[in-house]
Amino acid sequence: MSDSKVLVDKILDKYPAKVMKNRKSHMLIKDSSADSQEISANTRTVPGIITNRGCCYAGCKGVVIGPIVDMVHIVHGPVGCSYYAWGGTRRNKGKAREGGQNFLEYAFTTDMQESDIVFGGEKKLKAAIDEAVELFDPKAISISSTCPVGLIGGDDVHAVAKEKAKEHNRQILAFSCEGYKGVSQSAGHHIANNKLMTDVIGTNDAAVPEFSLNLLGEYNIGGDEWEIKRVLSKIGYNVVTTMTGNGALDEIANAHQADLSLVQCHRSINYIAEMIETKYGIPWIKVNFIGTIAFTKTLRDMAKYFDNEALTKRTEEVIAEELAEIEEEMTDIKEKLDGKTAVLFVGGSRAHHYQGLLREIGIETIVAGYEFGHRDDYEGRDVIPDIKIDADSRNIEEISVEKDPEKYSLRIPESKLEQLKAEMPVANYEGLIKEMKDGTLVIDDLNHVETEEIISILKPEFFGSGVKDKYMIQKMGVYSKQMHSYDYAGPYAGYKGAANFARDVAAGILTPAWSYIKAPWKTTPPMLTGKVEGVEKVC
Ligand code: SF4
Repeated sequence: MSDSKVLVDKILDKYPAKVMKNRKSHMLIKDSSADSQEISANTRTVPGIITNRGCCYAGCKGVVIGPIVDMVHIVHGPVGCSYYAWGGTRRNKGKAREGGQNFLEYAFTTDMQESDIVFGGEKKLKAAIDEAVELFDPKAISISSTCPVGLIGGDDVHAVAKEKAKEHNRQILAFSCEGYKGVSQSAGHHIANNKLMTDVIGTNDAAVPEFSLNLLGEYNIGGDEWEIKRVLSKIGYNVVTTMTGNGALDEIANAHQADLSLVQCHRSINYIAEMIETKYGIPWIKVNFIGTIAFTKTLRDMAKYFDNEALTKRTEEVIAEELAEIEEEMTDIKEKLDGKTAVLFVGGSRAHHYQGLLREIGIETIVAGYEFGHRDDYEGRDVIPDIKIDADSRNIEEISVEKDPEKYSLRIPESKLEQLKAEMPVANYEGLIKEMKDGTLVIDDLNHVETEEIISILKPEFFGSGVKDKYMIQKMGVYSKQMHSYDYAGPYAGYKGAANFARDVAAGILTPAWSYIKAPWKTTPPMLTGKVEGVEKVC
């Protein structure tokens, strides 16, 4: 029996029958001889199981809205929720534009107390907006509602936003992203992105230079966006906006002027890429900035799309230059790590994106899964029409758009786009399962008890995880890196980023620290032994 099968049986054996049935549907062993393999995803976690997922508010404020540097982001709720999504504490990095503002280091909250829960918090919210305007005079403000606001049901954050936007003459965006909505942070991504689509994108018509791009679903973790942009601008590209790592409001408003959208995190933003294409005529391609092989392929796909001789030549020059700088180090690290194994349980894309880079340094991924992926993130976009819409998904507003009569323009002829579809992922994503080798395990919404079984049976050397599981993994003697924050290291994207990652992973795996992880009484003989009431005891 394969290790994956032993593992699945052992995990499922622990559960009561109903839970077993549920969890079984969230696991599959990759078998390329099967016609298709289906996995359950984006459904509620079984109550009582310690999930690693985040809440809807974490997806809205923590991921999508929070990284917009020149807005004041007010969290309407208790202070605890605000701390969790405070940009400066976790990962959001951003720089002020020339002469512009940057509020990412601040945490703004209405700090709701018991009396606000009983009598309502609108007054407090209005006062917070007035104070933010008086102290900081920001270009725009966001309001994110957390659980208590939805539970008391009395605070109309949208009405407050409308009233105060008029009074202060600036944009105020309100989000009903209470934590309990949906089944994970994915619901929050939708709520946030929908509003950026309806209220922001398309409102700044400033002209852009040629070869202009939107980087969609790139969150500048550890400075990734800066490293990607460095390489892109060396080639001759212009990034109109990044949604939303290191994002700026006017730049997002200008997204409809780009020539091409690049989708990094498929999960959090594929629907916006589609809407931008429908409304403004900008095609999108699925890209991967992680790993030298994936990044090189992405750059060549982009060059093919633009089909410009000088740009293609420059692309190849930059690829050669960048690879030459890191080749020796990557080879050296691969020799040290060859044959090691990894588990990746991250977000809605990273468990896929990092497999190639790990392979480049000799590490094979044997288990992978997503915290908040949907079936299409595992199985590819072809399954989207078959995905059943349940009550939790219905709870999240779906918007639709039409061709903008004034701003729509087809960037390249439809016949050319059709031709490119055969050569690159134009408006397509094949999903994580395709990347996995036969016999490896794909597992959705992994929990703590399953993590423990994976480690004790498969004994991986590397575990890419989130903050909730990192330390329990390390206490079991396995090196774990938070792939949502990079443990405050990075960047890991692009060529130089790949070398940074390789260096950090080698140091993490090869450190002698793991040999000291066992409790002293398990490794050192006892100093004293004695007998108590006739039974041998160790003191
Ligand atoms: S689940 Fe609710 S209370 Fe908890 S952090 Fe999210 S919004 Fe706040």
